[in-house]
This record gives sequence, structure tokens and C-alpha cells, in this order.
Amino acid sequence: MSCIFCQIAAGEIPAEILGRSESAVAFRDVNPQAPVHVLVIPVDHLGSAAEARGDAGEATLGAVMRLGVEVAAGLGLVEGGYRFVINTGADGGQTVPHLHLHLLGGRQMRWPPG
Ligand code: 5GP
Ligand code: ZN
Repeated sequence: MSCIFCQIAAGEIPAEILGRSESAVAFRDVNPQAPVHVLVIPVDHLGSAAEARGDAGEATLGAVMRLGVEVAAGLGLVEGGYRFVINTGADGGQTVPHLHLHLLGGRQMRWPPG
């Protein structure tokens, strides 16, 4: 298995895991862009949000968002707020081809994003 996020989900390479559900895993980003920077991924490989279609895609996105909401609350981000980002494809700035939700918090976010 060559996908780095599949390997993290399987526990084959280390990551600071912050939460898990049956179908999603949350872990800290290795190169944080905010005081809190967590990635939430589906356990089963999916290349990007563009592939999250139909009922299966809805379930995958729902599971990822649900765990993201729970982890954000667990990290105390509800009062201050936070940002979810899903970079998708080349123009979206996606660099790892396994769907992932960025949870960013702990500082004021800017808009528009770069
Ligand atoms: P993208 O640019 O695809 O939206 O985000 C990929 C993210 O994955 C980046 O923020 C990058 O720092 C993170 N990342 C890449 N490789 C690893 C890794 O091996 N472990 C962890 N924890 N994060 C990674
Ligand atoms: Zn994968």
C-alpha cells in the first residue's frame, strides 16, 4: 500500500491520532499552519472530494465532517471558531491524493484564502 494516509489509517506509519470512528481517523498535520491543524480522513481510500459521489460519497463526507466537528469540540475550538478546508485537485492545492479535511483553529483565519 503506497498511499501515506492509508498507511496512517492502518497504523503502519506514526501519527498523533486525536480521534477515530468506524470509518474516519483524525490526526495532527505534520506541518501545522495554525496552532491547531488536524487532518480527518476516511479509513477507506478515496482520492479526493471529487470522487465522493452518490450515497457512498455522502456517507464518507458525512463521517469525515462528523469526526471533524467532534474533534474540534474536544480541542475546545467551539467558542473561538475554526475552519474546515478540503483542497481538491491541482487548482485546489491538494498534495496528498487521499481525501482529507483540514481542521484549522487557534488563530484568526483570513479571507480570501490564498
Ligand atoms: P493538502 O495540501 O493535500 O490539502 O494537504 C496535505 C497535508 O498533509 C499537508 O498539510 C501536509 O502537511 C500533511 N501531511 C503530508 N504528509 C504527512 C504525514 O506523513 N503525516 C502527517 N501527519 N501529515 C502529513
Ligand atoms: Zn489512501
